[in-house]
Amino acid sequence: MKIAVFAGDGIGPEVTAQALRVLDELSLPGLTLFEGDVGAVAYRRHGQPLPDETLEMARAADAVMFGAVGDFSCDDLPRHLRPEQAILGLRSELGLFANLRPAAGFPGLEHLSSLKPEIARSIDVLVVRELNGDVYFGDKGERASAGGREGWDAMSYNEAEVRRIAHTAFRAAMGRGKKLTSVDKANVLETSRIWRETVIDVAKDYSEVTLDHMYVDNAAMQMVKAPGQFDTIVTGNLFGDILSDQASACVGSIGLLASASLGERQTGYGTFGLYEPIHGSAPDIAGQGKANPVAAVLSLAMLLRHSLGREEEAVRVERAVEGILADGVFGGDLGGNATTGEIGDAIVSKLLTIS
Ligand code: ATP
Ligand code: MG
Repeated sequence: MKIAVFAGDGIGPEVTAQALRVLDELSLPGLTLFEGDVGAVAYRRHGQPLPDETLEMARAADAVMFGAVGDFSCDDLPRHLRPEQAILGLRSELGLFANLRPAAGFPGLEHLSSLKPEIARSIDVLVVRELNGDVYFGDKGERASAGGREGWDAMSYNEAEVRRIAHTAFRAAMGRGKKLTSVDKANVLETSRIWRETVIDVAKDYSEVTLDHMYVDNAAMQMVKAPGQFDTIVTGNLFGDILSDQASACVGSIGLLASASLGERQTGYGTFGLYEPIHGSAPDIAGQGKANPVAAVLSLAMLLRHSLGREEEAVRVERAVEGILADGVFGGDLGGNATTGEIGDAIVSKLLTIS
């Protein structure tokens, strides 16, 4: 088993270090780690945010553990040299087409949610967002029109693209509450009509999963009114971008939430993927021990589950995190004063109490 570790910039290395301590504590046999440069740190050392050797390291690995990229010092660089290009490049070069973002309320932290506590408590959803298609990648441009400059971005999905993300979502739903909601806008969009028909077809392979469909406008409303009704959501790139951020805000601190981006390649243990906290490099708090490492540690749990087939260890890590939050080990983002390292210490100690 090989994990490529790209800690990146800002708080990326600080939170990744804590996730690595947790991984070390699990003592997985036959595990090798490789460290590579991405982001501003890579630009400074190699003149580019995603050096070839970093990409090769990712290709040779079973999974990538990613911290964060971004640094004020790079604001004046041309776009292709900016740190953010590293993650965009990794996603496209590695064919990571499925973004998984779990959002679940933590008991006792309901006050962080933008929802009423009783509603926040009910949220436990996984948003599966397609990452390689839709309006971001369709034909786009600008032309003169009678109304001044006109811009366009074509939305498109073909059956193969929908089929592939639908399979990922159904498999994810099988490992959860066996309920999948496909979100589209099939009443007005041709893309969504193909999307819906294809998802219905893929559903034949997953008779245990209950499938329903929702228009995106209604889904956005339901996410804040009654999020407890959702188990797993599958949707396209644009709708998923919006709904996954919305689901995160329903839970609370950005320092708590993890994500996975999966590709098609099977590793022998699971599916190849890249794992990262949903937060960025947070330059405002970097180097001060203020970063919450929970999102990075929960990203490790997703890595164990999806790429290494280590469900048991994944659950152990998740239970350790829930345990320290229940004990009130909070960093500044949660109104407490535990440092990044102290939160890591607490997670490691808790892990030892969980078999
Ligand atoms: P990006 O463009 O990379 O997403 P961003 O500027 O949108 O970056 P973040 O870097 O995620 O945003 O930071 C947003 C805010 O949240 C900042 O004030 C930051 O300090 C805070 N923050 C982000 N991650 C954490 C964390 N792990 N622990 C505590 N605070 C955090
Ligand atoms: Mg951001």
